[in-house]
Amino acid sequence: MPRASSIDPHTLFSKVDSREAANLVSSMVQIPSVNPPGNEESIAQFLAGKMSEIGLEVETFESAPHRPNVIGRLRGTGGGPVLMLNGHLDVVPPGDPGLWTVEPFGGEIRHGKVYGRGSADMRGGLASMLLAAKVLREAGVPLKGDLLLTGVADEEVGGKGANDVVDRGYSADMVVICEPTDLVPLRAHKGILWLEISTAGNALHSSRVSSKGTWGEVNAIYKMTEVIKALQNYLTELEKRTNPLVGNPTVSVGTITGGTKTNIVPDRCTITVDRRLLPDESPEEAKAEIEQILLKLSEQDPKLKTDLKVIISRSGAVTPEDSPIVQLSKAAAEEALGKPVEVSGCPATSDMEVFVNRAGWPTVIMGPGRIGTAHIVDEYIDVDQVVAAAKIYISLALKTLS
Ligand SMILES: [Zn+2]
Repeated sequence: MPRASSIDPHTLFSKVDSREAANLVSSMVQIPSVNPPGNEESIAQFLAGKMSEIGLEVETFESAPHRPNVIGRLRGTGGGPVLMLNGHLDVVPPGDPGLWTVEPFGGEIRHGKVYGRGSADMRGGLASMLLAAKVLREAGVPLKGDLLLTGVADEEVGGKGANDVVDRGYSADMVVICEPTDLVPLRAHKGILWLEISTAGNALHSSRVSSKGTWGEVNAIYKMTEVIKALQNYLTELEKRTNPLVGNPTVSVGTITGGTKTNIVPDRCTITVDRRLLPDESPEEAKAEIEQILLKLSEQDPKLKTDLKVIISRSGAVTPEDSPIVQLSKAAAEEALGKPVEVSGCPATSDMEVFVNRAGWPTVIMGPGRIGTAHIVDEYIDVDQVVAAAKIYISLALKTLS
């Protein structure tokens, strides 16, 4: 058996087959696992089958009914670290199929691309993980550490699957989340805080209103306009805070509902707000800032009464620049791609937060496909990128597990 250090990675790279890559992505696109509501059973079965074919030790367990996770282990000879390659099994809904020019779950392969919901986010990354493990296994590369492939449920909504992997006692020394990053290693991502803010009013027949509110009427929609203006000013403040990896935090009003009938002064108006957090901002801090804004408004206008609820809260995450997974991912990408690669950060949130903040596993996000082609009509991924990512993971496994 050859020593891993004597293996030329380029010999292994040449074994990654682009037709196999395209077919793998296409097959997985044809297994919908739309979240919400979320049902990853069929795609988990497919992945477990492929892992068994490759010769990995496979475990499947449910993090909730019909929400399985799949773990495949290429066991090393011992004495090395564990490298985890992670991908999520769910995809976002396709929206109106009439807007697509291809079948959303057809998995069409055309001109070096695979089309369909989930192709970029992230059937492509799952395919690259499988291809890398297959080449390493078939070549009989003697790795000391374990290569762990994890397919998890529910990334797009709540991150149940990733949390469950942590809760069940799996461990990793380094993690790569194979989400679409155009093959660039990202070592930080933003957090997210979704809020619901309501204003309370005092209902009255609309024929009895005055500019001074003489009849005791309070228009909840008018009150909400003050809140919205304040949030727009808050965005200006947030733009002054910058982070070299992920840019600035943001706030955005996404939905508004209010009133019951045209001739009734509305007694309630509700907005939902999306606040994106820098990696070092906590959801609690951001919530407190917005509470302060609301408090100030009600001090200026005693008739402005608000109520605030948290809908979703996920922290950001950051892995230090000098962490081995950051440096080795960069080196692996440069080796496989044959060009310099700059480490960056990600404006969207991901399961990295669970692995870094809850488990303490140094993590980067790095995978095939561009985030700009994910979650859109006619989503696609370039097969070349799936192949290139597989090569990067092979190179990384050699660097970390030998
Ligand atoms: Zn994703």
